Amino acid sequence: MATNKGKFDHFVTQAVHLILERFPNEEVYTCESGATPSGKIHLGNLLDLTLCDGVLRELSDMGYKARHILFIDSQDPLRRLPVFVPKEFIEKEEEFRGFTLEDLPDLWGCHKNYAEHFVSPVREHAADFGIKLEILFAGEFHRRKEYVEEVKFVLENRSRFIEILNRVRSAAGHKTLYPEDWIPYMPICNTCGRIAEWAVKPTYIDGYKVGYHCDVCKKDGEVDIRDGRGKLPWRLEWPARWKILHVNFEPLGKDHLAAGSSFDTGRAVLKEIWNRLEPVSIFYDFVYIRSPDGKLLKMSKRKGIGLGLDEWLEIAPPEAYRFNVFRHMLEDVRTSALPHWEFDYKRIFELVDRYDWGERIYFNVKDEVDKIDENVRRRIVKAYLLSQVDKPPSKLPLQLPYRFAAVLSQVLDEDREEERLISILRRTGYLTNSISEEDLRNVKKRIKMARRWIELYAPEFKLKVIEKLPVEMKDSLSEKQRKALGLLAEALKSRTWSENELFNEFYNIIKSVGLSSKEFFEAAYMVLLGKKSGPRLAGLLLSLERDWVIKRLEEVGK
Ligand SMILES: [Zn+2]
Ligand SMILES: [Zn+2]
Repeated sequence: MATNKGKFDHFVTQAVHLILERFPNEEVYTCESGATPSGKIHLGNLLDLTLCDGVLRELSDMGYKARHILFIDSQDPLRRLPVFVPKEFIEKEEEFRGFTLEDLPDLWGCHKNYAEHFVSPVREHAADFGIKLEILFAGEFHRRKEYVEEVKFVLENRSRFIEILNRVRSAAGHKTLYPEDWIPYMPICNTCGRIAEWAVKPTYIDGYKVGYHCDVCKKDGEVDIRDGRGKLPWRLEWPARWKILHVNFEPLGKDHLAAGSSFDTGRAVLKEIWNRLEPVSIFYDFVYIRSPDGKLLKMSKRKGIGLGLDEWLEIAPPEAYRFNVFRHMLEDVRTSALPHWEFDYKRIFELVDRYDWGERIYFNVKDEVDKIDENVRRRIVKAYLLSQVDKPPSKLPLQLPYRFAAVLSQVLDEDREEERLISILRRTGYLTNSISEEDLRNVKKRIKMARRWIELYAPEFKLKVIEKLPVEMKDSLSEKQRKALGLLAEALKSRTWSENELFNEFYNIIKSVGLSSKEFFEAAYMVLLGKKSGPRLAGLLLSLERDWVIKRLEEVGK
């Protein structure tokens, strides 16, 4: 095994070291993630939650008390309606704009308000991803006494806050600054219910009272900050939250690394006024999505682009998601970010295969471990542990490759034809002893996921075995191709094969006939499926009815 002198801790471990260094005396460590429930909360948002969970676990494993708060920015104004709202609302965007997400009704009619509609799948499925969290809605937080008192403090000392924001922003080259008479509060209009900065302008402060003028309903009014009918603007809201909730860790998009960002101004405010250091972060680049028609898109809550948590769980194990977050290498968590992630619906199997690989590394499978150096091995073992939803298994589980599961999902019914499933697993070399209940359960689960995946995202993986060989098929194949198919039939007759052995045998045949591998595979797919490509051939041959396959090959083979 190669060794490498330069050792790097896993980025979660690095973050935890920084947290303990920066905040040595916390009674309870707080990890904060955030989401604005303006539309479908997707896999990109889940990244935040997953990173918090990783840090929480590491802290807990070290014996520290820790909690994870998912802060829901439900008092943010609605800007645009999602494109997938029920038809009757599509033309009514203007009526809803500017209301807080928790004051708006659930336009789908199934939850108590708009915000809850989008938070609900997270509440339901976070635990399926192994994530423990407390959900805190902005409205509830904004009525808390600690928050109200901080708001009063900010308003009374607003010139100091404005000076810091403007100083940090001008140092970063920003030209638009806050005016000296700015009142940093966003009241919710008593008359029409709007909160947006473009609509409701604060005009005076009187103790706990903030006066305003609303540009939408043209009325003047006054709110009491003790009622939670308003909030600080984001650049002050954020550091106030860090202070009040004692936030020690918060994952961030890498745009926050920039000077003058809201993270940058928040940190300055927190330090200079509240005498506290900013939370430690793990930075990440965006998650993009490769749409079924091949376009690269940014995930979007409004457009509903990006899988929801429940949608992921239908087609892939939650551990595979976690592993693909935690597998990365960050040399220095303070200055580098997790790389951008192109999520491709059609290649979900790559993410699952990669998780399986991580599992083999964790279980020290020699062939795999020999290929990587010790640092990589340690990182992958750590990532595997961080990926577990339950306790890690005690021995290497039966790993059914996702694409093979996709084939099996189409040639058998895993619940009704258990015997056949087990015999295929045996024939293909995935099973050597008797199958444990757990393995059987997992194999079936994976077959079901793969079936769903084909249905929803990958119809081209649909197998259609051609029942009767068209006459012209024979003529369309070359002499060499037909010879190779004949040899393949003989090989299949001669003995039982594991998937790997058969795969190697293809190359013996290819060589002995003097064919290119492309010509060989195309010929085999043509006579079985009537098209030039298909799922992995060895798995396909071994999962179809043996006699039928041999007969078909002999029909065209020479
Ligand atoms: Zn709903
Ligand atoms: Zn109004």
